[in-house]
Amino acid sequence: MLEPGTSVQFVKGIGPRFAEMLANKSIHTVDDLLFYLPFRYEDRVNPRRIADLQPGETVSVIGEVRNSGLFRTRKMPIFQLVVGDPGSPDAPIFGYAGVDRSRTLKCLWFHGTYLKDKFKPGQLLALYGKVEASHSGGLEVIQPQIEVLNDPDDFALEDGVLDLDKAEAEAARKLVQSLEIGRIVPIYEAAGKGKLTSRWFRRIIRYALENSVGPSLGAPRRDTAMPTQTAGHDYIPAAVRAHLDLIPPLQALWQVHWPELGESIADLQNWRTPAQRRLIFEELFFLELGVELKRRQQRAQTGITFALAEREREAVKRILPFKPTKAQFKVLGEIARDMADPAPMRRLLQGDVGSGKTIIALQAAVIAMENGYQVALMAPTEILATQHYLSARRILEPAGYRCVLLTGSQEADRKRNTRRHLARGDAQLAIGTHALIEQKVEFARLGLVIVDEQHRFGVMQRMKLMKKPDNSGEIPAEPDVLVMTATPIPRTLALTLYGDLDVSILDELPPGRTPITTHKYLESQAGEVWDMVRAEVALGHQAYVVYPVIDARSGENEEGESELKAATQMYDTLRRKLMPNLRIGLLHGRLDADIKDAVMQSFQRHEIDVLVATTVIEVGVDVPNASIMVIEHADRFGLSQLHQLRGRIGRGAAKSHCVLMASAKMTEEGERRIEAMLRTTDGFQIAETDLQIRGPGEFFGTKQAGMPSFRVANLLRDVELLQVARREAAWMLDQQKLGAEAQVSEEEIRAAVTHMRTHWNRRFGLVEVG
Ligand code: ADP
Ligand code: MG
Repeated sequence: MLEPGTSVQFVKGIGPRFAEMLANKSIHTVDDLLFYLPFRYEDRVNPRRIADLQPGETVSVIGEVRNSGLFRTRKMPIFQLVVGDPGSPDAPIFGYAGVDRSRTLKCLWFHGTYLKDKFKPGQLLALYGKVEASHSGGLEVIQPQIEVLNDPDDFALEDGVLDLDKAEAEAARKLVQSLEIGRIVPIYEAAGKGKLTSRWFRRIIRYALENSVGPSLGAPRRDTAMPTQTAGHDYIPAAVRAHLDLIPPLQALWQVHWPELGESIADLQNWRTPAQRRLIFEELFFLELGVELKRRQQRAQTGITFALAEREREAVKRILPFKPTKAQFKVLGEIARDMADPAPMRRLLQGDVGSGKTIIALQAAVIAMENGYQVALMAPTEILATQHYLSARRILEPAGYRCVLLTGSQEADRKRNTRRHLARGDAQLAIGTHALIEQKVEFARLGLVIVDEQHRFGVMQRMKLMKKPDNSGEIPAEPDVLVMTATPIPRTLALTLYGDLDVSILDELPPGRTPITTHKYLESQAGEVWDMVRAEVALGHQAYVVYPVIDARSGENEEGESELKAATQMYDTLRRKLMPNLRIGLLHGRLDADIKDAVMQSFQRHEIDVLVATTVIEVGVDVPNASIMVIEHADRFGLSQLHQLRGRIGRGAAKSHCVLMASAKMTEEGERRIEAMLRTTDGFQIAETDLQIRGPGEFFGTKQAGMPSFRVANLLRDVELLQVARREAAWMLDQQKLGAEAQVSEEEIRAAVTHMRTHWNRRFGLVEVG
């Protein structure tokens, strides 16, 4: 009997060599193997007869090899395989009596040299692909997916000659009981450079299923319903199961691998059969249970109850340089309510670039400072930290608040000094980069932590900051935390990655903005683009010109990178040749911090007309007079990056233009990104598109950002189930308060929580509970 934790090495048919190949696919245990799920299914219940095929159909066919060979065209070698309906008139294989065996299907593989000598006449194959009419009037299929169902070597006589009659008879007999035909067949991704084929997985997983479910089950008989009574324990409480009509876990596992006859192929391909739904829900339920528990534990901690009386309210109003938008007013209200509440605030503020998050952060800071607490504001880059520092001083210092800046590149003396002020409590608002979360920084009385542009920080960093102790002996109250992001997070990801946070949304831009017009130009049209820039400057506005690389000669010279125009070179070209009369500046990440500051400040003071830059200007930079941005090689940038960049313009009253320059030969993804930029300026729509293009795993760039990795669920596909899972997890935990009325027993809840801790926590690192 195989236990879920048993190493795959001990499964019959897997030795150390195969185990290693499996390990490369992260399959280490029997459990991993059982959750290596098919990526699609083939309907081989009634395989189509070649004699009946029509052009245009996508079909599953069982064919017999007639002949095969490689031929060369002027352009490339092509491998051709001809198959017909199996069997012979004298010895028909089941279902193929009386077919017209003269009709054949030609399969073609371009550059198919590797297939040479792979096939022998008489072999039975399962083919899957789209049938087309060939030039010669027959049928053909280009690069079908293919599986050899019988290996003629099994039937070879001693002298090595294939005994076709025997092979056919044998094959026919085997087919009837095989896993390959007469059923819906699971197709697995091959592993071990193709050595571990889909067919191999079918057998090995079948074996694991048959041998790991407990003695009462044994192998289910072919084509009978899978067992409904299983040995495995169901950790989802009965009442929750009933809400969703869930089938038992092992039955679900069986049926996901081996769907019952009659199961809808469409449902299977869409992952919507009862078995698939059960496994998806289970995964999401335990994830959301973890998130919900964490959320409740955080709320149960002792936080700070900030006073919010007339005096504090007046102070908050006093600093306002402008009338807040309705959205700003509403969001500040939500934050203020959280702060006045004894539970620690854990709030995520989502607001598109330019929606005015900074002032909200500063108002929250004022509430904390008026209550005698200190505030830490973290930004992802030094440029942005410096910007925040400058706005904070402008807005807060007149009202008497003391702000300090702390960044990694500052001189040691200055940093030491700043740290001392923070430890003593003289400084009230500390603005900085990750230097702020270095262990050495101590706060006298930290009450509020604001993290700006969260997507730049790992979740872990966020946690570290929140758990930072202060320098008094006592355990300090949990500071409130406000996370701000300009990368709108699609709802699904918000529920998983930030499910423990409350969400506020700033969905209104401050008044006086004119919408940005976005244009696409080819590199060959650069002349027109520079004319546009000159025209904007002539109107008294400023421009950004952005490049993906700093220096063409340096850096990651990956394929083609040297063809990219680089900031440094183009700075020279613009200054010397293209715009000798304009004042051009250069900004990139490799400049010293004080030079960066100086350049930024001259741009802000309009001593520079055109700022040539890399993506260092992506976040936070705020110069309302800039009305045009040219992004060269725009197809090379990520979508959220493009959106962030574009957010630097359209901040003033003047009409703004974003010019995306692209090479004529773009990748398909590059093109989709540019199209998305042309279609909308709405950050949420951009984020959704970005998620579609990149998939959830890549969306946040790194795994460390806390993206859970799923075995079954797919966040793009399973949004609805995710929402249901979240609701059910909360509902289950709420039953604890209901006493005799509870529909879920204490034991069930305890079992579910324990299961989540032991089995799921490891995978969903973000859900660190307790
Ligand atoms: P972001 O959300 O991208 O951080 P900012 O806080 O930098 O946006 O605000 C963008 C610009 O809009 C800044 O120049 C800011 O001063 C201005 N702004 C913000 N709120 C208002 C408002 N209610 N009325 C007028 N201008 C505002
Ligand atoms: Mg901002």
